[in-house]
Amino acid sequence: MRVLPDRYWQKLIPWKDIPEEKWKNWQWQIGNRLKTYEDIKKVISLPEDYENIFKNVSSIYHFGTTPYYIFLAHDREPILKQILPVSEEIDPYIQEEGEIDPFREEFSPVPGITHRYPDRALFRVTNFCSVYCRHCMRKRIFLQEERAKTKKELDLMFDYIKKNKNIKEVLISGGDPLTLPNEKLEYIIKNLYFIDHIDIIRIGSRELVVNPFRFYDEKLLEIFDRYEKIWLVTHFNHPDEITNETKKAVKNILSTGTPVLNQTVLLKGINDEKGILEKLMRSLLKVKIKPYYLFYCDPTKGVLHFRTDIKKGIEILEHLRGRLSGLGIPTYALDLPDGMGKVPLLPDYIVEKNGNHIVFRNYENKVIKVELKWG
Ligand code: SF4
Repeated sequence: MRVLPDRYWQKLIPWKDIPEEKWKNWQWQIGNRLKTYEDIKKVISLPEDYENIFKNVSSIYHFGTTPYYIFLAHDREPILKQILPVSEEIDPYIQEEGEIDPFREEFSPVPGITHRYPDRALFRVTNFCSVYCRHCMRKRIFLQEERAKTKKELDLMFDYIKKNKNIKEVLISGGDPLTLPNEKLEYIIKNLYFIDHIDIIRIGSRELVVNPFRFYDEKLLEIFDRYEKIWLVTHFNHPDEITNETKKAVKNILSTGTPVLNQTVLLKGINDEKGILEKLMRSLLKVKIKPYYLFYCDPTKGVLHFRTDIKKGIEILEHLRGRLSGLGIPTYALDLPDGMGKVPLLPDYIVEKNGNHIVFRNYENKVIKVELKWG
């Protein structure tokens, strides 16, 4: 991967006179997103030759960040790399084997719905995100018009869920569903909540990472409290993304009885080190977020430069197993192509098995023979 250029920050200069209540308002954060090279130049200094790269790449895969998240990226390359366009994204050799929709999500029974597992359905409600993450597995949304589903489109999606009684869990996703106004969000949640066979409404959102002030909003917390089928799944990739604002936001969410889980993507040059992921899992637990998945980076066109060797994740998992309690250990998983679903990838702790004994190894690679029958 190209090493990002040196830069010198003019920390917070565009926002130095912004009153705190504005800075901590989620709508102000979204309304004041940085979207162009000119915007970003006001915050960071970049070398001349980066302008062309930025403009070429972002004319295909657009750019966007909240002021909060770019501020967090100050002196933190792993955060900056998640949002700044780089030439590898459009390099035809690097991206040759990538696919725009590797999991065939757009092959939908109804536009917006992906129904891959019998008991679960994906429910995509918007193409908009307040931050466009360079590693997004759904990077095709960057190529589409930024818009939310209309009421008419949503009603067709509800009809599909109502008719398919084997669906027990709906995953509301996007884009980022929590960028929607509360009224529209409540319309979606309420309609799903009153479908008898739906037990769980899972919301996949990165707002907790890039705009934690979303969860300072009393109206949103009231919605979470009212429709108690909600679970929140967020997406922290690096320990530096966890701040005092995250802590306050999680406390607010938990006060509504909503569990908070995290999915991390293993990203080359960002978090593909044992120490970084150990720190991330510990930091998540400290603020009471349960690490849920560590995903191998998907084969999406435009993100292949973030892929590591697959065994890297297994090595990291082995490292975590010896150092963290089970609470802090996510499932390392790979999403199979052609909509075949996820498979967990595990270190092998069985060295040998015979008719009446099994040889195990522990996290320190010590082996022990135990009298046990396999079958
Ligand atoms: S917030 Fe989620 S959906 Fe949006 S760009 Fe980032 S990873 Fe993709």
